[in-house]
Amino acid sequence: MLSAYGLTLVLTRGYESRGSVIRIAHRLARVVGMTVFCIVYLHRSSESRAIFSPNGHDRSGDCIDVSIAYDGSALTLLPFGVFTPLWLIKRIRRAYHRELALAWSALEAAGFIIHGNVTEAMQIHCEVRS
Ligand SMILES: [Zn+2]
Repeated sequence: MLSAYGLTLVLTRGYESRGSVIRIAHRLARVVGMTVFCIVYLHRSSESRAIFSPNGHDRSGDCIDVSIAYDGSALTLLPFGVFTPLWLIKRIRRAYHRELALAWSALEAAGFIIHGNVTEAMQIHCEVRS
C-alpha cells in the first residue's frame, strides 16, 4: 500500500527484554531525559510521562516505533529527538502531512493505534489494538 507512494516503514524500536543492558540504559536515560525535559520545557512537563515512560516496549512486541523512508531516505520527523520544540513539530507535520497521513493510516489499517502524544506520534510509536 505504501510502496506505491515510494514510502517504506522501518522498525526503529520494538520489544526490550527485562534485564537487558538496553533496558537498563533506557531506564537511566529516561530519568535523565525526563528531568532535562521538565527543566527545558516547564510548560510541557505534563507530557514527560508519555514521552519518557517505556510505553509498553518493556511489556511485549505489541508496541513499536517506526520511521518513514521516502525513496530510500529516512524522513527526519524529530530533528532534536523528543526535545524537538512543538513549533518545529507543527512545521514538520505540515511539510510531511501526506507521508504521515499515509503511514498512520496504513498502521491503523493493520491494527495499530498511534500514540496520542504529538511527540510520540511523530516518533510513530504505535501499539497493536487489543
Ligand atoms: Zn515507542
